[in-house]
Amino acid sequence: MISNRLKSIDLSTTMEIAAKAIELKSAGVDLIDLSVGEPDFPTPQHIKEAAKNALDNNCTKYTKNKGTNELRTAIAAKLERENNLHYTTEQIIVSTGAKQALFNAVQTIVDKGEEVIIPTPSYVSYIQMVKFAEGKVIKVDADETNRFKIHVNSLKKAITKNTKLLLLCNPCNPTGAFYDKDELKEIARLVLENNIFVICDEIYEKLLYDRIEFCSFASLNEDIKKQTVVVNGFSKAYSMTGWRIGYAAAEQNIIDNMAKLQSHSTSCASSVSQAAALAALTSLQDSVEEMRIGFEYRRNFAFDSLTQIKGLSVVKPSGAFYIFPNVKSFFGKSFQNYAVKNSHDLALYLLNEAKVTVVPGSGFKCEGYIRLSFANSIENLNEGVLRIAKALNKLK
Ligand code: PMP
Ligand code: GLU
Repeated sequence: MISNRLKSIDLSTTMEIAAKAIELKSAGVDLIDLSVGEPDFPTPQHIKEAAKNALDNNCTKYTKNKGTNELRTAIAAKLERENNLHYTTEQIIVSTGAKQALFNAVQTIVDKGEEVIIPTPSYVSYIQMVKFAEGKVIKVDADETNRFKIHVNSLKKAITKNTKLLLLCNPCNPTGAFYDKDELKEIARLVLENNIFVICDEIYEKLLYDRIEFCSFASLNEDIKKQTVVVNGFSKAYSMTGWRIGYAAAEQNIIDNMAKLQSHSTSCASSVSQAAALAALTSLQDSVEEMRIGFEYRRNFAFDSLTQIKGLSVVKPSGAFYIFPNVKSFFGKSFQNYAVKNSHDLALYLLNEAKVTVVPGSGFKCEGYIRLSFANSIENLNEGVLRIAKALNKLK
């Protein structure tokens, strides 16, 4: 009764674990949730006020399929101002989260059997989106020794005459890896030589540490811009995960086809959320920087405390709010009824023994690691790390 297409798709590991954490917390379990990737700060007050005004002004109807003119114009201005990218309002589509923008872009570009290169570890949904489009996933390992970044040579080897698309996440979920301008240029050279499209997911653009400067992939040159879909959103930078607003910018033909697909799925993004997103973009950006500073402090704390745990090897993330320790030294060990053979077993063990939720690396197609989110208070991070250390110490 269920379609074969859906049978091949897995439930999002992150969403599954996040739902489990919500359930356990509401059942009164003293849980430290380091699984979910969402800022713990409230949405800034002025953004909430804009939504209230929108409601009072009866801004409660369908908007244009691509999004309101006001919001798309503000997004175009943001891309120009901050990323040196010129797009017209019509080259921008607002979607129900960056996730829908990514989904629409993948379905728009990829045909059955075409190859899509995905650096792994990768965001949980990319592979499933490609499977939904009946594309062929080609993984390229971004290993720990290269700070979880792909080598250009590995990318080169993965390219065939069938390669259609590269799905790049910069900065990266789940590793916090960051490609700088020079590294992006090398990737761009290969992309142009081989006539490949790129979807560059830049949703963590504002969450970069150590004074790193962000460069949007499409801004490298006019040729690469023509082959790139820029995806971004409001969930992370403005702490607006539940508002569900993301966007994409690209060549007209791509955006128009994404709009066609969207017109048959969600019609448009929520009108009230679009008004809130407009306020987010057009008002002072102080809260974005305040949150970033908060995350940097927590990143340092999480890194320093996790590196103290014997058996973990940790790469310091440059961006986003995740840390991705290597936990392979615990495989083959056990405590009472728990035998840890892989990252899934370890995540389950930490949930039951330490009452801490983490996401197994297998969810990101990278066995041997777990992902912890440091978008949490220092108190919770401290308690979470102590509990993890205690539980890991019991494994013999
Ligand atoms: N891309 C990445 C890399 C993410 O981590 C997320 C997190 N949810 C998304 C896209 C989707 O974000 P949104 O909430 O805007 O759908
Ligand atoms: N991006 C978040 C995460 O990785 C939210 C979940 C999701 O989008 O799948 O935890």
